[in-house]
Amino acid sequence: MTERKVGVYICHCGGNISDYVDVHKVRDVVESEDGVAIAKTTMFACSDAGQQEMIDDIKEQKLDGLVVASCSPKLHLLTFRGVAKRANLNPYQYVQVDIREQDSWAHREDHEGATEKAIRLVRAGIAKVRQSQPLKPTEVETVKKALIVGGGIAGLRAALVLADMGIYVYLIEREEKVGGWASKFSVMYPHDKSGKELIGELLSEVAKRGSKITIFTNAELLKKGGYLGNFDITVGIGGDTNEAETINLKVGAVIVATGFDTYKPKQGEFGYGLKGVVTLPEFKAMVEASDGKLEYDGQQVKNVTYIYCVGSRQKADVENANTYCSRYCCNAAIHTSTLVSKVDPTVHQFHLYRDIRTYGKYETLYEETQKMGSVFLKFDEDEPPVVDSSDGTLRVRVKDLLTDREEIEIDPDLVVLVTGMVPRENAGLTNALKIPLGRDRFYNEIHPKLRPVETVIDGVYIAGAAQGPKNSSESVASALAAASKAAGLVMKGYTELQPLVAYVDPDKCEWCGLCAEACPYEAIEKSTDEQRGKEIATVTGMLCKGCGGCVPVCPTDAIQVKDYEDHTIMDAIDALLEEV
Ligand code: SF4
Ligand code: SF4
Repeated sequence: MTERKVGVYICHCGGNISDYVDVHKVRDVVESEDGVAIAKTTMFACSDAGQQEMIDDIKEQKLDGLVVASCSPKLHLLTFRGVAKRANLNPYQYVQVDIREQDSWAHREDHEGATEKAIRLVRAGIAKVRQSQPLKPTEVETVKKALIVGGGIAGLRAALVLADMGIYVYLIEREEKVGGWASKFSVMYPHDKSGKELIGELLSEVAKRGSKITIFTNAELLKKGGYLGNFDITVGIGGDTNEAETINLKVGAVIVATGFDTYKPKQGEFGYGLKGVVTLPEFKAMVEASDGKLEYDGQQVKNVTYIYCVGSRQKADVENANTYCSRYCCNAAIHTSTLVSKVDPTVHQFHLYRDIRTYGKYETLYEETQKMGSVFLKFDEDEPPVVDSSDGTLRVRVKDLLTDREEIEIDPDLVVLVTGMVPRENAGLTNALKIPLGRDRFYNEIHPKLRPVETVIDGVYIAGAAQGPKNSSESVASALAAASKAAGLVMKGYTELQPLVAYVDPDKCEWCGLCAEACPYEAIEKSTDEQRGKEIATVTGMLCKGCGGCVPVCPTDAIQVKDYEDHTIMDAIDALLEEV
């Protein structure tokens, strides 16, 4: 191997590292490692000055390898790859060594041990960079079309924004009509428009975009093939999947905006099933249909008792527990109660709650409904309200925490169970797209703060309540975010794929298929090697995520991941184990 010229930078992180690790000692030890041309400490490697120093060194000393020992690569891998790029060094000839999260922060009580560990980790990084090759990303063309799955408020809004950016949109909706939940909502807060009006406005905008947006109803996504920027989608239209007419669509990106379902209480849960016990969506429909007075079963309603958190914030020991807060139901119930007061101010309304979460602007609604006469009683989650009608009268008993657990009995005309959101039954779609579900069984984003609408399937984004409980404005905000990510992918007409993918040595491969079975991304298939006259495994680089799952299962060591070959890993381990 030709001699390498590696630059090593050990970061103080302003004391986060250097308060516990003797960074000068680390530098003194590693500067004599094979191939190290320059070794320095730096106060903040990520600062402009720190980055510029590295760029100058790389250029002046003609370095062909860079090691930065600092924080987690999750934070700054791309920052330092950028440094390499700006200094005309191939960004894959850069290795980041984590001596903060994995070292200084973990060993605050043992400075000597932390310093020794840092030396070993940096040596392993140097060993790895010595084997690094100048890799190039693969450029692939992207189709300037997007598919949106779900025609609710999020899906429709995403369709409009994509169409306005010149991207052709297919929107598929499982139901007969688009509009989703929002189209069933009456007056919404704070703009006082009905959901029907909002969806109507969106649909008239869609109509104005003409052929830029094509909507298929009664349509389900059956299959996804292809890869990022070039997906082949099979859609079934009408009937069940066996009878469906199928169409094939070619799109560059997919946005999943399939929304939510409402929690359906179990029989007997807070009296569900008894006459007079209804869910919040059922009650809202009743309020909307009321004409001057609220009626149930032909009788005027004079007393409504709401029970909050039904199907949300459940204890973990409940089967398939929904431990999350559904976010919108406190607001929705309180907003509905203000509408009830407007329909008939004489209706008594009792709200039995665990906590009221009318965050942001909705807090004013909470005040408003109290001024209108609503009474709020707080119960302990271990002593929830009991609903029965054993003597023919619908009765709710609750111990009110605000009056030192005084037991209160209410005989309401209606009990409204404030039900939350649950994930939709979408097994077919989930299977076809392979988007992972979170523990809450909603679709999972890569990172809730940093990559909130991206999924681990490149080019597939999530929006709205398909991802977790959201109100309609939050759903639209996430739809716009997903649309801008999708547009960012397809607008340029091409995208770059990272080169750290698996490859097969055809001489060693005897096609046993174990790697294909192990690959979670279906990136490996059998092919015929005419030259060698045998069948071998072939990796589709566009699908491979470089996870390495295929490598250890190969009995002949025929499959490897670029830049993480066995010999590179072994070298790094040997360096790690060297005496300090
Ligand atoms: Fe070939 Fe190894 Fe894959 Fe078997 S596991 S098909 S030998 S690459
Ligand atoms: Fe599949 Fe991971 Fe192997 Fe790539 S590295 S072929 S994604 S198992």
